[in-house]
Amino acid sequence: MNIKKTCYMCSLPATSLEHAPPKCLFPTARDTENGINLRKNLITVPSCDEHNSAKSKDDEYLLYSLSLSITSNNTGLNLFLTKVQRAAQRKPALAIELFSTSVPVSLQNTQTKEIAEAHAITVNGARIDKVLAQCARAL
Ligand SMILES: [Zn+2]
Repeated sequence: MNIKKTCYMCSLPATSLEHAPPKCLFPTARDTENGINLRKNLITVPSCDEHNSAKSKDDEYLLYSLSLSITSNNTGLNLFLTKVQRAAQRKPALAIELFSTSVPVSLQNTQTKEIAEAHAITVNGARIDKVLAQCARAL
């Protein structure tokens, strides 16, 4: 029996596989410190074209937002310094949008009391929530 799969978000027939969490959050070997490919064995779910391609811009927004965060780990920071930088040079609109909200701030390390200068940006929480909600539904 041939069972057709439907999209994880709607009742349309699936035409592709959607990664959950978004594939763009996982660096390829060239974008990791130790050359390890983190894109192996990623979880996918059946998706229609509309729900797979429609969220790629929001996935990219999430990538930029997470990798820019001061709480990002070394993998996230390296992703920002490699993949996000290349993408921003090719298509600067998203970086310009994010940095348009940039405000200089001083941060103090609560343990060392060192002060560092940084920039705070305001992210579109609804846009990030949308990606995370779709990811949760997919999983
Ligand atoms: Zn769909």
